[in-house]
Amino acid sequence: MPWVKCHICSKDFYAKPRHLKIGWGKYCSDKCKFIAQKKGKFIECSNCGKKVYRALADFVNSKSGLFFCNKSCHCSWANKNLHLGINHPRWNCGEASYKQSFFRNYLGEKNVEDVALKIKEF
Ligand SMILES: [Zn+2]
Ligand SMILES: [Zn+2]
Repeated sequence: MPWVKCHICSKDFYAKPRHLKIGWGKYCSDKCKFIAQKKGKFIECSNCGKKVYRALADFVNSKSGLFFCNKSCHCSWANKNLHLGINHPRWNCGEASYKQSFFRNYLGEKNVEDVALKIKEF
């Protein structure tokens, strides 16, 4: 009678001799087999720190190496880190140029010196 130990929960169970011959009989149940086949890891969400399970393929395909629990979590992270300042798609070249175009467009200032004075006062 071939009694074998489960590789996951180390419980003794009976495996059929013909199953052992072809390399089966490693796990006592489907539940243990399922755990053994899981190759991914639990990783912390890069935004909120919540633990999430990611499969091995996700680690291989990830370009940034960052993981998020859901899409909205990723968006709030991107707003804080990617679309800020110089990384923003509408970034011009800095605060001063923003103020200049603001005064030109909204206050109708044509003279550049006037605009520069307004910026100093602002
Ligand atoms: Zn087991
Ligand atoms: Zn999250």
